[in-house]
Amino acid sequence: MTQLSEKGFVLDLFKECDALLQGHFKLTSGKHSEWYFEKIRLIDKPAALEKIVDLLAAKIRREAPDFDYVVSPAYGAIAIGFLTALKLGKKFAFSQRTEEKMTIRSGFAGLDGSRAVIVEDILTTGGSIQEVLACLRERQVSVAGIYVLVDRSAGSVPIEGRPVGSLLALKVEAFEPDDCPFCAKGMPITKPGASDKKI
Ligand SMILES: [Zn+2]
Repeated sequence: MTQLSEKGFVLDLFKECDALLQGHFKLTSGKHSEWYFEKIRLIDKPAALEKIVDLLAAKIRREAPDFDYVVSPAYGAIAIGFLTALKLGKKFAFSQRTEEKMTIRSGFAGLDGSRAVIVEDILTTGGSIQEVLACLRERQVSVAGIYVLVDRSAGSVPIEGRPVGSLLALKVEAFEPDDCPFCAKGMPITKPGASDKKI
């Protein structure tokens, strides 16, 4: 399978679960875009998500097979990380934000001093992943790899100098309303529901 057709296949999987919408969208930044990721749709069709996770698990198996835990930030990536861990026969832990601070959920005692791979749903600024890295450092966990389903920065966001593996790197172009080619064509615009940034 060539890279191009694999990218097409991954795109089709995202479209299949309605996680990637094509049209004319008003983003929370106020800019307009042709593409919109509806993150929650990734987990509301487990059978479609499983096909995507199979590809991610195969990539991790090839590139970073030697680790103990998959760690994901709550809540959106929990199902994705959990399924990845299941496919790879690894353990799973998650981090959560309590009073604004990211911490590893208590109870994952075996995590300390282990090796982990971080799995996140969508990389935009890399902020959550940096916070997970800090949590893992505190627990003397060595990080064997960082993986996301979608890299919206298209590889332009370095995270503490580490590469981020992704199934789909897609830099989404956003336009000022005055400069939007879709407005110019008179296409009606959709404002998707604001995602819950607190979790
Ligand atoms: Zn527009």
